[in-house]
Amino acid sequence: MKTLAKKDLVKAINIWADKFEVLSPTKTTNGDCIFDTFQENKFTTDYKKPPLSPKASFFPQTEVIFKVEKNEYREVVAAKKMLLFGIRSCDMMGLLQAASFMSRDKKDVYYNAKRDMAATVVMACPGPQNETCFCTTTLSGPVAKKGFDLQLYDMDNVYLVEVGTPRGEKLLSGIPLADMDDGLAKRQIEEFKQKAVRNIPEVKAVIEAMNKLKDHKADEKVWDSFGQKCITCGGCAFVCPTCTCFNVYDHQSSPGNGLRARTWDACLYGGFTREASGHNPRSSQALRLKRRHEHKLLDFNGIDIQGGLCGCVGCGRCSDYCPVHIGTLEVVKAIAE
Ligand code: SF4
Ligand code: SF4
Repeated sequence: MKTLAKKDLVKAINIWADKFEVLSPTKTTNGDCIFDTFQENKFTTDYKKPPLSPKASFFPQTEVIFKVEKNEYREVVAAKKMLLFGIRSCDMMGLLQAASFMSRDKKDVYYNAKRDMAATVVMACPGPQNETCFCTTTLSGPVAKKGFDLQLYDMDNVYLVEVGTPRGEKLLSGIPLADMDDGLAKRQIEEFKQKAVRNIPEVKAVIEAMNKLKDHKADEKVWDSFGQKCITCGGCAFVCPTCTCFNVYDHQSSPGNGLRARTWDACLYGGFTREASGHNPRSSQALRLKRRHEHKLLDFNGIDIQGGLCGCVGCGRCSDYCPVHIGTLEVVKAIAE
């Protein structure tokens, strides 16, 4: 196995930045960390969970999908070579889930053009990023099992480099690396994993809530109570790495000229499931919240890609950002109780 000396990390990223737009942990002026275009003077390896998941790299909040100019139709597929550096394993799993959804019946060309051209370098998680992380319960962390091109493990003065794909192997060309005995490297990775797992507590309420929902034994009053509190901001869906719903709208700027765009949508909005007749199968906020959480905990668009654990990757962002505390952690605890 290979190792990369920590002092050579920026050199390596600069080599990648010659070929890709590298998105990496970046310090903002208010001290937060976001994933942004690599700038050496703002790059940091001392970062916690960023507020937004990397889903926006392939599925922007607003995206023009075609234009009409002087009555001529022109499809817009905006893809470029990107490298996501330093994402965590929960977000890697989120990207896998979003890619499954975007390729299920018919490939979403806009998403997949970008995803196919993007490389991923995961930074294995040494422990919880904050008190809302529960990736060990949803089997999506603390280290990525698949999907990544490269995965780095932080070990004192070096990163251990795990190669996940042939594209990952190619990424190592020209990077200053050293060799480490495979047996020793595997033992160090196993120790890293075990230590991280010990630090990220299992949330038993997730499994209990999943079982109750599956058996239709969840108390409906939970939804009524949360439904009365929800302010319908949509924030939980927007920060969620596996939420992929969108709305489509047309805009005519002048006769013969215009565009079609799509924007993020949220199943918490009253209009999301309202039908043309005016009938709304999810007519109350309680029903909308129920459906959202069933979708996260029971069924991810019919795709079972985590061996039974479904549309939630345990990143905890919905609990971090819901202004009235209706994140998945709060919901599963209420159902379990
Ligand atoms: S439902 Fe919440 S905890 Fe689960 S993946 Fe989405 S934002 Fe993260
Ligand atoms: S973030 Fe909270 S308040 Fe906003 S829509 Fe989601 S559950 Fe409702």
